[in-house]
Amino acid sequence: MTKLKTREREDRHAPEATLRLKIVQTGEPVLRQPARPLSEKEILSDEIQRLIRDMHETMTDAPGVGLAAPQVGLGIQLAVIEDREDLLKAVSAEELADKERRGVGFHVIANPGITPVGSEKVEFFEGCLSVAGFMAAVARARKVRVECLDELAKPRVIEASGWYARILQHEIDHLNGTLYIDRMHPHSFTTLDNYSRHWKGKPGPK
Ligand code: ZN
Repeated sequence: MTKLKTREREDRHAPEATLRLKIVQTGEPVLRQPARPLSEKEILSDEIQRLIRDMHETMTDAPGVGLAAPQVGLGIQLAVIEDREDLLKAVSAEELADKERRGVGFHVIANPGITPVGSEKVEFFEGCLSVAGFMAAVARARKVRVECLDELAKPRVIEASGWYARILQHEIDHLNGTLYIDRMHPHSFTTLDNYSRHWKGKPGPK
């Protein structure tokens, strides 16, 4: 494992302290390269365990519901996911029901494989911390099955539907060098400000 390059500082006085990592933006080559899988030994290493804590802190601070390693400049198949209950409080009950969005506890996916379950697709606006300030409508599978390793390198199978399935598809796309802008309806691409003003709760222009 090469030395992690995104560390902004080393805090010698507080070895357990987490760091907020720099989130790279679209155009950065690492976002377009397929990430490499991690070995079980690497996942369990101090370096990756610390990276997981730092990615958790970075995602919480952003705030976001998912963060993939390429977004912090590392081409490895690792992502963190959490849809916190306190983020959901700002969302209307109608929108939560429409998007099938429920709280998801913090967890890690490494070396994931993903398959759609059924053929149903649903379309909603989504954004990305690496395409900061914009959103677009993206059609994605409503249900997916993910096989991956967790933070302890244990095999895990996730069956997800609704917004959680969307998060998984978005993060696993990152590990394959794909961004939502590759899948969006181009006419729907909007600034966050104009999303709030014109498109919130709507399917977007066709
Ligand atoms: Zn993203």
